[in-house]
Amino acid sequence: MKLVRYRYGKDQPRYGWIYEGKVGPLEGDPFGEYRRLEADIPLSDVQLLAPVEPGKIICVGRNYIEHAKEHSAPVPEWPMLFMKPQSSVIGLNDTIILPPQSKQVEHEVELVAVIGKSGRWIQPDEVFSHIFGYTIGNDVTARDLQNIDGQWTRSKGFDTFCPLGPWIETELDPSDVLLSCRVNGELRQMTSTREMVFTVQQLVAFTSTIMTLNPGDVIFTGTPAGVGVLNAGDVVECTGEGIGTLSNRVAH
Ligand code: ZN
Repeated sequence: MKLVRYRYGKDQPRYGWIYEGKVGPLEGDPFGEYRRLEADIPLSDVQLLAPVEPGKIICVGRNYIEHAKEHSAPVPEWPMLFMKPQSSVIGLNDTIILPPQSKQVEHEVELVAVIGKSGRWIQPDEVFSHIFGYTIGNDVTARDLQNIDGQWTRSKGFDTFCPLGPWIETELDPSDVLLSCRVNGELRQMTSTREMVFTVQQLVAFTSTIMTLNPGDVIFTGTPAGVGVLNAGDVVECTGEGIGTLSNRVAH
């Protein structure tokens, strides 16, 4: 199933699902008991929102060897976690705002796991029963501030620095998903999740040894090589094979 959050006309945002290019409402709790109602609204008639309102946005640094190399940074021995604030989340076609404090804002396409069932100390062989599905994220980063600060809250925490979407795909094997990022149509990043240092299973299990994971929490799984600068006027498209494309404009 493709799970969306959408706004239709003047209605309140709600969860829905997509079937043959049309959207239908989902009644109940997408992470619990729900019922799918008929999908009869053309996709082009709704505004798709970020597909989840995450409680926690957990990210991992340097999870692809080639990306660590492009910053001359060592590959960590265990997952190097950081977090982004909820206030940074935007959805499909929303605008990434370049903050005046940075001269080097960069894109990072990533596969994002969405938690569906609470857990702490989740065993690796139980991880998939705690994952609801997968979406695409752009871990937008002010690289110059990241290099100055040493810790990453400022450089990765600006409003609009967490595009998520276009929907959550619940039927996906995350072990070999081709990720790509295009800026104004030009290919910048293209790598399979096969190249990850720590797998989705390892990342979720590891994170759950630190904090309780709850339904709706999201885990960004790291970006491959090829990150680059975004300028005002750009259109950045992050694609995950088998999921879809998350497109955002860039402006001051
Ligand atoms: Zn990242």
